[in-house]
Formats: sequence, C-alpha cells, structure tokens
Amino acid sequence: MRVAELRQQFPILGRTVKDKPLVYFDNAATSQKPQCVIDALTHYYSHYNANIHRGIHTLAEEATMAYEATRSAVQDFIGAASAEEIIFTRGTTEAINLVAHTWGRENVGAGDEIIISGMEHHSNIVPWQIICEEKNAILKVIPVLDNGELDMDAFKQLLSNKVKLVAIVQVSNSLGTVNPVKEIIAAAHQVGAKVLVDGAQSAVHLDINVQDLDCDFFAFSGHKVYGPTGIGALYGKKMLLDTMPVFQGGGEMIKEVTFEKTTYNDLPYKYEAGTPNIADTIALKTALDFIAKIGKNQIRKHEDELLAYATVQLQAIPGLTIIGQAKNKVGLVSFVIDNVHPQDIGVLLDNMGIAVRTGHHCTQPLMKRFGIPGTVRASFALYNQKEEIDVLIAGLHKTIKMLA
Ligand code: PLP
Repeated sequence: MRVAELRQQFPILGRTVKDKPLVYFDNAATSQKPQCVIDALTHYYSHYNANIHRGIHTLAEEATMAYEATRSAVQDFIGAASAEEIIFTRGTTEAINLVAHTWGRENVGAGDEIIISGMEHHSNIVPWQIICEEKNAILKVIPVLDNGELDMDAFKQLLSNKVKLVAIVQVSNSLGTVNPVKEIIAAAHQVGAKVLVDGAQSAVHLDINVQDLDCDFFAFSGHKVYGPTGIGALYGKKMLLDTMPVFQGGGEMIKEVTFEKTTYNDLPYKYEAGTPNIADTIALKTALDFIAKIGKNQIRKHEDELLAYATVQLQAIPGLTIIGQAKNKVGLVSFVIDNVHPQDIGVLLDNMGIAVRTGHHCTQPLMKRFGIPGTVRASFALYNQKEEIDVLIAGLHKTIKMLA
C-alpha cells in the first residue's frame, strides 16, 4: 500500500499541533476524512441541496438518488441481502437504541435474559439495562479472560431458552480483541436467541458479511470508516424489521395518517422519520468507495504490521503493560505504565503533537475488571506509518523521564 500517497489525500494530516507534525493515533474514536469525502459534502450543498423523497423537481430527484445510492453501498459494504434491510441512523448508538426500544420492548419479558459481554461499550450496555429494568428481565455478562479474550466456556454456560438476545461487540474498542461472533451467533441461535453485533470498531478493519455471519442485527458508524459524523446504519433481517414496532413517529415513516389511525410505510422508511442527514449520508458512500478502492485486505495487512511493530516497541518500555493480548486483534493497542496516570501521559504526548486517547474508553466495567482507572490507547488507520510509532515510543520515554 502506498501510504505516503494516501496520506496526501487527508488534508488534516498536514497540520501541526503544538508546532509538531500531527501524529494521529485516535482512530478508534473517529478516523480522519479524505478530501473526496469533504468534497462530497461541499458538492451536495453547492449543487443539489434539496429535501429527499417528497419532491419532483430536479434537485430533489438528484439528492434522493444520491441518498439511496448510499443505501446500496452500505448493503454491499456489509453483504446484506437487500437494501431494504439498511436503516440509516445517527450511528451505532442510535442503531442499538432503535433495536432496544422496538424489538426489545416487544420481545423481552419478565424473567427473560439478555446476554452482553464484559468488554461492551456503554452504548451496548445501557440500552439493554433500560429494557431489563422496564421489563423485569435479567442482564447476564460473558466474562473477559486475562488476555482480553471472551470466556467462551462461560458464554455457553449462560445459554438457555430464557435468553432472548445476545448483544455482542465484534471488535473491542478498548482491547482490540476480535471476538468469534460467528460462533457466538450460531450458539445463540441454537437456543432461539437473536443476536445483535456491535460493528462500530469492526466495520473499518474486517470484511463484513452479515449473511455469512447470520446475525439478526448489525450496527456501525460512518465516522469510524473515514466518513462523516452523524450518520451510521442498522442492518436487520427483513423478517424482523417487518414485524417490529415503529421507532419514532413523523413524516416519511407513514403511509396514511388520519386522526383515527395511521398506517406505516414499508421498509426501510418505516424507521426513518423526519428529514434525514442527507449530506452526511451521501458522503458516506464516498468513504465506502474510498475503502473499496484501496481494498480492506490491503488496509488490514498494513494495520497488522503497525500493530506488530508497536507491540514489540511498547513491550520493551520498562513498567509498561499492554492490556489486551488476544490472539486475534486489530490495529489498536491499549497500555498502562507503572505509577503514571494515563491522563498525564495523554497531556504530555499532546504537547509533542501526538493524539492518543486516555481514560476508560466508554468501557468502565472492563476497566474495573482489569483493576485500572483507564488506559492509553493508540489506534491505527490506513494512513499511519511506522515512523509515527517511533515518535510515540520516543515520546513515551520522554514522558516517563518527566514524570519519574
Ligand atoms: N461501540 C463501540 C465498540 C464503539 O467503539 C463505539 C464508539 O466509540 C460505539 C459503540 C458508539 O459509536 P457512536 O458513538 O458512533 O454511536
């Protein structure tokens, strides 16, 4: 992969921070955007800004076509059987909440169980807690092993016909662990449970095929796949989406409204009330095309090399412990250093132009499991280089000296 050339396509990578060249290692929080994505936003607003679906004028038609083209692009990106199964949401969080408040409210009852894992992001914990509280259902948690992998034996012990849903992250945002979701889905289906996969971190690194996985729901966010913020998608099997109750009420999601009764629109519009985020949806397609042009395999290979390189370099630092040493990981490394608070490391690295994330990464129960307040997390993208890891390592040596 020609990383130096690809970097040219990301204007932000040319800037400095605190008079130092920016080293951006906060990609798991949000990735940077290539010029083509930025251009797609500007082009929409300067050439065919219009509300979609309802208009018959040229601008409305052009905007509608571009908006719906993204739906097909997302269908391809995750291997869905049909574009009707793709619901646009603000992101992963809204997608999970949509399932919780529609499917969850209707299908989870008193005494039923929902299984999540000990490495879930808060957005795949709290919506299920809300439903469990409301319905008197029980939330069960798959334990995380010391190396950052799921305890699959314990998972199998949790399965019974009381389980209505398994909501599981495919790639941990705090550990980098790639979970065996295909195996989890097959086992959950054996007891009649549905499975929601949180793909917020996996969508950018792994080839996703929801039909092959056989998951019932899959959620991801556009801003983590080189696309804009404020747009993401929920995949659901048509059979489920067709029979689930509606989410928000308003324009677009209806067929006919009278004061006595309202009938609802077909998929996917049934779940897309109101004027959607048109510009960002359109630019998401540009981001997905950008990834497809490079090839996910090429990107993964490059990120794996960065991970291997960073892991060796980091392990050589005295007092540093990597949290999350699963056999199957993406390009993300979380670590702690003896007697130094992650926050202090983050501040000093920022002074050197290095952007890492520090803290609990919205996985407080996982931090508690490891008995730490948080970690320093460096997460890699297609535009990162080994030289930048060298800058991080040098920065960490300097930081330790300053804080010792
Ligand atoms: N799930 C995981 C694993 C994440 O890493 C994130 C964001 O960091 C989310 C869910 C929530 O995504 P969003 O904030 O885009 O809705």
